[in-house]
Amino acid sequence: MLLTISTTHHPATDVGYLLHKNPARLQTEELSLGKAYVFYPDASDDHCTAALLVEIDPVALVRGRGPAGEGGQLEQYVNDRPYAANSFLSVAMGRIFSTAMSGRSKDRPELAETAIPLTAHLPVIAARGGEDLVRRLFEPLGYTVELKGSQLDDKFPEWGESPYVSLTVSGMVRLQDLLTHLYVLIPVLDNEKHYWVANDEIDKLLKRGEGWLGAHPEKDLIVTRYLKRQRSLTREALSRLLAEETPSGETEDMPSMEASAERTPSLHNQRLQTVLSVIRDTGAKRVVDLGCGEGKLLKLLLAEKQFDTILGMDVSYRTLETAKERLRLDELPERQRSRIDLIQGSLTYRDQRLNGFEAAAIVEVIEHLDAPRLATLERIVFEFARPTHVVLTTPNAEYNAVFETLPAGEFRHGDHRFEWKRVEFETWASGVAERFGYWVRFEPVGPVNAERGDPTQMAVFTQKEVAA
Ligand code: SAH
Repeated sequence: MLLTISTTHHPATDVGYLLHKNPARLQTEELSLGKAYVFYPDASDDHCTAALLVEIDPVALVRGRGPAGEGGQLEQYVNDRPYAANSFLSVAMGRIFSTAMSGRSKDRPELAETAIPLTAHLPVIAARGGEDLVRRLFEPLGYTVELKGSQLDDKFPEWGESPYVSLTVSGMVRLQDLLTHLYVLIPVLDNEKHYWVANDEIDKLLKRGEGWLGAHPEKDLIVTRYLKRQRSLTREALSRLLAEETPSGETEDMPSMEASAERTPSLHNQRLQTVLSVIRDTGAKRVVDLGCGEGKLLKLLLAEKQFDTILGMDVSYRTLETAKERLRLDELPERQRSRIDLIQGSLTYRDQRLNGFEAAAIVEVIEHLDAPRLATLERIVFEFARPTHVVLTTPNAEYNAVFETLPAGEFRHGDHRFEWKRVEFETWASGVAERFGYWVRFEPVGPVNAERGDPTQMAVFTQKEVAA
């Protein structure tokens, strides 16, 4: 099967820097499913075409954990797999163009970020769902779609059309986007068995779908087909995408809104400084900030040598983009850059990426979750991820009366589902500690009011085995 990518951007051969494949060479790679070749049938300053040819070995597929075709023995060996673009092509792309798909280019970083005229051509793909579906998948992403169908046999027009089409999509896009769109949409169009689909496919899909899939009008169909109609996976992926689109707790100007109710913009800073110093005192080297928002705490953590692995997670893709900019991740020298990572994820889903941390911060997040989701978060954090220490903050409702601008009975922020009095928070936190084997202590944050306590409540949890 074949995919070609062409550009007329000038100088066109620069696309080789983005793909990390030299236009002057034929490159061959052995994959478990066969062999892949990258070569340039056309390479000049004015136009350049890169070709990815994947030669599937149908016998190897049968021998491996490949498809036991529904058509019995023969279909295992004789099928369209080697010829028509399908999920194997995505697998090969993921291997061969992985750097390009992540948008990194050492030699042409700016070009990687630039929309250029690009055309992708798939000479043969099974458009299951018809030509109309092909358009519905690609056009909302801004592509011009060209399709050429063919009769099964021109001597027998009554046999009708072949399900295979030749597909060309063109647009002004970043190469990274074109590749990730194809990566997700090729298996969706093919809609046959794919040779993946495990739980971590959701993460892959969400990673590749970042920034576009959540808003795609055919999102449901894409997710359903990509995940091979496995209902539970589909449901989870869709709800995580939904979370991306309308993240609970996300509003553009959240910190300032909170600050305005609190009337002391520095309260947020005080809170972060307190959290930082508690985390520092635990001696942790690996820390995760859960619901990291725009990355203010991450910035403080990054400034301290003690922390060699720093992870920020948030459900909101948009917020993470802001965090990435604020932290200037792209400009950090490699040694600094390798200490920190940002991931999209939700505290209401079990996630192996959260395992193995010595300290976790959960700052002003829990009040954005309603009761059933809070119960899930408890298990995700304290039962599954199980950091050694957890530093968690939430507003103290009793203190709200001190904020002159906040009408009685209202929350500090429109998205808060609750704000707890001290006794409520302490009861909750003690219950969590008890159930999951942690000790908990409470410490004040911000100026303490004799009657109403401190504006922010903070609980510090430590695993019992460690404290003992
Ligand atoms: N900790 C940051 C941000 C607090 S605002 C700070 O103190 O500055 C709350 C953050 O929680 C938002 O960024 C929101 O997107 C995130 N959030 C809400 N629900 C979440 C969930 N289920 N999983 C992960 N993050 C979530």
